[in-house]
Amino acid sequence: MNEPYTPDEIILIKNGELALKGLNRRTFEDALMNNLRYRLRHSGEFTLRKSQSTIYIEPKNPYADMEEACDCVSRVFGIAAFSRARVTSKDLGAIQQAAVEYLGERLQECATFKVEAKRSDKQFPYTSPEISREVGGYVLSRYPHLKVDVHNPDLLIMVEVRDFGAYIHAQQLPGAGGMPVGTGGKAAILISGGIDSPVAAYMMAKRGIKLTAVHFASPPYTSERAEQKVISLLEKVGRYAGNMTMHIVPFTHIQEEIRNHCPEEYFTLIMRRFMMRLAQKVARDADCKALITGESLGQVASQTIPALAVTDALASMPVFRPLIGMDKEEIVTIARRIDTFELSIQPYEDCCTVFTPRHPNTRPKLRLVEEAESVLDVQGLVKEAMQGIRTLQI
Ligand code: ATP
Ligand code: MG
Repeated sequence: MNEPYTPDEIILIKNGELALKGLNRRTFEDALMNNLRYRLRHSGEFTLRKSQSTIYIEPKNPYADMEEACDCVSRVFGIAAFSRARVTSKDLGAIQQAAVEYLGERLQECATFKVEAKRSDKQFPYTSPEISREVGGYVLSRYPHLKVDVHNPDLLIMVEVRDFGAYIHAQQLPGAGGMPVGTGGKAAILISGGIDSPVAAYMMAKRGIKLTAVHFASPPYTSERAEQKVISLLEKVGRYAGNMTMHIVPFTHIQEEIRNHCPEEYFTLIMRRFMMRLAQKVARDADCKALITGESLGQVASQTIPALAVTDALASMPVFRPLIGMDKEEIVTIARRIDTFELSIQPYEDCCTVFTPRHPNTRPKLRLVEEAESVLDVQGLVKEAMQGIRTLQI
């Protein structure tokens, strides 16, 4: 038998909003652990364990890519902050030694530091202030250029003496916040190739929603590459939202029927009502309880209150529009942060831009839209589109 591998570096995760969740806490923590396991699968083999509202991520062998693992962890919702920490034995000498070894390079570069110690293992023979003092003294003896600054140090050295060992790390890194994906239920995101819907997807995933994606494609008016762009966008979103199924709904025939038979001022509205009908069917089949769109009030003609009312008149489940009150600039800031912006601005056509009316009606009356659409075989068109759906796993 080989000796079990003892990692010298691990990731420590302190739970964010989870702490607030009282009775649900177990479910939330379990979801978070599962999500972490899944996301870390390409970065190496890890053991995950939970103790004292901290999750420990420990590499099982020296081949784990800790840099990449930290990068993945920083995008998992449900984590307020985390640290990449050096592991050492619960021995003061070993802790002192490890602190200068682990943070030596950074200590060299800064002028002031502070040691903050936490002892949750009360068997350890030094109190927290004693640990801070002893480690601080040792650091000073090795780096005489340094000064202690307890208020605003260049480098904060954290020492934690816990159940399984002692850990040394610098300042915590910010996590992605939010709630673990899956704890908020499941919803279908209507995803286009634009800037807004990927941001909307990200925002709802952050609230713990597991996503299913619905995309309407109108070949040959929309190209293979436009579809590929949407897949790439979902892959970017998936770095936060996890894996999802994408449903590609054929929309060409519906759009041609609208163009051939309906008044131009209602093109977009009638099209959006078809999107709503189809998305709801897909959502129901996929056990989703809500729809999500990237709509923002006033951004385009179909995003006025009367226009939204005309689409929502068909809704039999909640429609979440997380961007409704946001400016484009605010949306773009998030798109850049989650790295979807550059993809989104690639100029591929979307089905929404194929037959845009010159003078869309921004104050539509439901009755008139219903009348305009009544010349179409709505049920037949919906059925035909449902039969042509392709699915793929993101
Ligand atoms: P986006 O930047 O997300 O494309 P937008 O500002 O261009 O949004 P619209 O084109 O009117 O606005 O679309 C509004 C919303 O309708 C989108 O945010 C998206 O949720 C949904 N949507 C638009 N086109 C499609 C499509 N081809 N497939 C699925 N959903 C779509
Ligand atoms: Mg669009």
